[in-house]
Amino acid sequence: MIDISNLHTGLYIGGEWRDGRDTFTTLNPATGQPLAELAAADAGDVDAAVSAATAAFRGDWGALAPSRKGALLNKLADLVERDVEQLAALESLDMGRPVGMSAAMMIPNLIGTLRYYAGWADKINGELIANDGYMGGPVPTHAYTRREPLGVVAAIVPWNAPLMILGWKLAPALACGNTVIIKPAEDASLSILRLAELVTEAGFPPGTVNVLPGVGKVAGEALALHPGIKKISFTGSTATGRAILQNSASNFKRTALELGGKAPQIIFDDANLEAAIQGTAMGLFFNQGEVCAAGTRVIAHRKVYDAVIDGLKGAAQAQVIGDPFDPSTTMGPLVNERQRDRVLEYMKTGAGEGADVVTGGSAPEGPGFFVEPTVLAGNNEMTVAREEIFGPVGVVIPFDSDDEAIALANDNQYGLSATVWTSDVTRAHTISAKVEAGAIGVNGWSPLAPQLPWGGVKASGVGRELGYEGILSYTEPKTVTIVL
Ligand code: NAD
Repeated sequence: MIDISNLHTGLYIGGEWRDGRDTFTTLNPATGQPLAELAAADAGDVDAAVSAATAAFRGDWGALAPSRKGALLNKLADLVERDVEQLAALESLDMGRPVGMSAAMMIPNLIGTLRYYAGWADKINGELIANDGYMGGPVPTHAYTRREPLGVVAAIVPWNAPLMILGWKLAPALACGNTVIIKPAEDASLSILRLAELVTEAGFPPGTVNVLPGVGKVAGEALALHPGIKKISFTGSTATGRAILQNSASNFKRTALELGGKAPQIIFDDANLEAAIQGTAMGLFFNQGEVCAAGTRVIAHRKVYDAVIDGLKGAAQAQVIGDPFDPSTTMGPLVNERQRDRVLEYMKTGAGEGADVVTGGSAPEGPGFFVEPTVLAGNNEMTVAREEIFGPVGVVIPFDSDDEAIALANDNQYGLSATVWTSDVTRAHTISAKVEAGAIGVNGWSPLAPQLPWGGVKASGVGRELGYEGILSYTEPKTVTIVL
């Protein structure tokens, strides 16, 4: 187990560590025992962070050449790579994911995102725009756009993949020349606090990056309301996203909202069934099912329905539930007691509404916030098929035709991602075009890469992160027209 006694747990503002006027205690999800006491930022601390970030934006960070900004992002990536094991351990300790997955997937994703946007920092260009001439008359103009940074932006982050999701916000924001205030989730701040120490070590000008641990309703709300913040990039629940959107109206902040999901995984009878079952199981159980893109609605062609049920049952029963630091563990605890109880309640509701509990359905004995990986056989009308559970619970739903599969996939409030399992290339393209989602994986669950735009439609949110979309979303085009 990693020693956290030397880790800063205060507020990181203007490159310095401060105590908060208030504190809160987090629990170790694997044991239920107290883990850390953290500063809880209040509205005054948000004010202080906005002042520091504004000063950096107008001062040293703003003045730094784009290629130097890119070099600092690369330096931060190097430090994260150096400390990958430590960052992975902190994150797993805090939120429960098996440590090997943190080290092999989540922290490397942050490194990749930092490097990808480091490369963009000196390649952000406006356009030269041909036009009809001054007021449409014969006098020509020279017109162009400048892509300018927005100013101070806030990144409000969830607990399920803190460093990975933070990277999607922090890296493009900095590459574009903005300064950033980070609000980690109550239940998982430790890896982000360590990242703040690395920001200092990398040599970013003070105030470029600020971190405010704290309670969402206090620190998060103060960020959304603050007139000095130009954009909020938020990942979290749909209800919180709606509150942030409303509060952001106070000064017309830009918002990017990455919200919940209820992703369909459509398995056709022509699919490579072994690969489909393996990938579908990953979509259900990876990260304890605490994934916005979790493929929790398994929509299986009736000809392969029984085989899919059997395969997923086997995959669920093969999961090794336990200590995130035991190398044999494949599924750790859920993040907290409330989440565990919520997931158990959904399992009960599913059975109550007539779903067949193929496997799982309860919590193992003992301490910690564990639940069993669960497969339900049901239909798309059940609560468990309509609402986001955010735990390792999947519902398998049969279909007979392509049209029915599309209708089932789209009959949900969410539209973050979807997976299509088929060996027919025409069907792959046709279904991908018709399913309502921000991202579709064909023959692979939820592919994520720094180059690929990510975000949802419908109740899954607005805006895109990653790829070139990330650059567009952290800059404002300014049109300059010179009458010649
Ligand atoms: P949450 O909405 O409760 O919290 C997310 C963040 O918002 C936390 O930092 C929290 O402190 C803060 N917050 C809470 N209330 C706030 C308020 N009133 N104003 C401003 N900030 C506030 O969500 P969560 O429990 O941390 O995460 C789970 C949810 O996040 C799930 O619904 C999941 O689908 C979603 N999620 C989505 C994605 C995605 O990419 N779309 C990724 C991860 C998680």
